Amino acid sequence: MLVPSDNYSDFSSRLATVRARVAAACRSTGRDPASVEILPVTKNHPPVAAEAVARAGLRAVGENRVQEGVAKRAAADPAVHGIERLAWELIGHLQTNKAILAAAHFDRVQSVDSEKLLRHLNRAAGELGKQLPVLLQINAGNDPAKFGAALAIAPQLLEAALACNHLRVDGLMAIAPLGATPVETAAHAARTFGNLRELRDTLTARYGTSLRELSMGMSGDLEAAVAAGSTLVRIGTALFGVRG
Ligand SMILES: *Cc1c(COP(=O)(O)O)cnc(C)c1O
Repeated sequence: MLVPSDNYSDFSSRLATVRARVAAACRSTGRDPASVEILPVTKNHPPVAAEAVARAGLRAVGENRVQEGVAKRAAADPAVHGIERLAWELIGHLQTNKAILAAAHFDRVQSVDSEKLLRHLNRAAGELGKQLPVLLQINAGNDPAKFGAALAIAPQLLEAALACNHLRVDGLMAIAPLGATPVETAAHAARTFGNLRELRDTLTARYGTSLRELSMGMSGDLEAAVAAGSTLVRIGTALFGVRG
């Protein structure tokens, strides 16, 4: 459901707060804040949310559902400064029957979690005459409720992805499982993000491919993600408020 709200005018102050959190997390782990990108997640929010992101000069937004993202992109006001160069990234689960739509309308798909989906996206990108950037989504927290390829099959998935001529593998993505308590949630986050970072380092060494992007961290756990090496934090609630 879209939130019927027009209070996206406070986006820049919320963005400043999130940037300060990222900067503090970078400072305490000796990282350069410029090495961590903030990806605003506009799911469940109207096109004006994406327009606010474009005005702020950010590179991209994240969307969870294919149709919602496609409709929102089409509905965004073309007169808004920067809207035409705003990139749209799919971060939610993608069914193979929507691979063509996703390949046509998104600039990157972060949620690639099976060889079957790779085949569909590769074929779709080929038909569209484009090279589609992707991230491989890994269930790095071994969460039974989460999508993502099991850690153990990640090498196989990467091999299959590297063989796809019409896909470009930019890196890995993960979502940390929630715990029953804040302490447990924090422990899951640290473990999940540490696993993804370790996997990236292992795969990079083994396949000689850079896997530059580590998409991990959301509103509640961005500090743990930055500490573990995140290059892209996907932020919804902290930038746009609670979704309807
Ligand atoms: C909704 C969503 C986010 C943003 O979550 P917040 O907690 O609102 O920051 C990030 N990643 C994915 C995959 C999401 O679905």
